[in-house]
Amino acid sequence: MSAEDFSDVFDAGVTHVWWGTVTEPVGPDGALVLSAEERTAARTMTTEAGAYYSGAHLAVRRILAGYLGTGPAALHFGRLRCPECADPGHGAPCIVRPSTELSFSLSRSGPHWLLGVTGGGRRIGVDLEQVLGFDTASVAPSVLSDRELAHLREEDGPAAQLAVFLRYWTRKEAVLKASGVGLMTDVRAVDVHAPPGSGPLLVHHAAATGPAAWVVEDLAVGPGRYAAVAREASAAGPVRLIGRQPPAGHGRPEPPEPLQTRSTTWPAQPHATSSHSMT
Ligand SMILES: [Zn+2]
Repeated sequence: MSAEDFSDVFDAGVTHVWWGTVTEPVGPDGALVLSAEERTAARTMTTEAGAYYSGAHLAVRRILAGYLGTGPAALHFGRLRCPECADPGHGAPCIVRPSTELSFSLSRSGPHWLLGVTGGGRRIGVDLEQVLGFDTASVAPSVLSDRELAHLREEDGPAAQLAVFLRYWTRKEAVLKASGVGLMTDVRAVDVHAPPGSGPLLVHHAAATGPAAWVVEDLAVGPGRYAAVAREASAAGPVRLIGRQPPAGHGRPEPPEPLQTRSTTWPAQPHATSSHSMT
């Protein structure tokens, strides 16, 4: 097998998006890769949620370490300053060490995770949601713009309405994560209305500082999942979607393993949480 080359992430505007599913608990060796903060965070969760969190963070560390030519345990994460209030406590996650211009964004939903990576210190945001049954009609008015809501109400039946809702929700959250303000803003004001399959979308959303225009793309990441990536509009080159588990060791990618063939028997019941924290 030949090692696949991922160095184009450092080319202007190129974005890589990795996705995968946590299918087994992190073992003792993997646990040593995580930081004390990550291990503590996992312990505050249910066993299942903690396993998903730890598995996703281990995968993220291995992928990012592969780009940076370092060990996955050597990565130190921090946060950018909030673009609204300059608070370093709640901006977008970033790599503090080693020093790098790579930016990343992580989203998790149940056992599934999605990681966007780009170079040049550019902003990126990704969001992933797995389909869970909930009352779209009661939530949508506080989330969607008027024309997004009108579109949703044209759809026939709860399943079709949920699909429209999750498409819009993932686009909005990707933009808000890219801009660094997260959900501390009026989500309705981020208008991401567009017909399905219409391709990348230009979205205007300005925080107090930082870019004001974003290119948003829907991503196909497996059945029952919705995902989007948002990037600075001034530098939105190709998106490379890498749908597989990360290499076991940094710099030595394993052959592709399609997710469809993976066992989904562990754990039996997906946990209905979605977290975007990277602490
Ligand atoms: Zn703030």
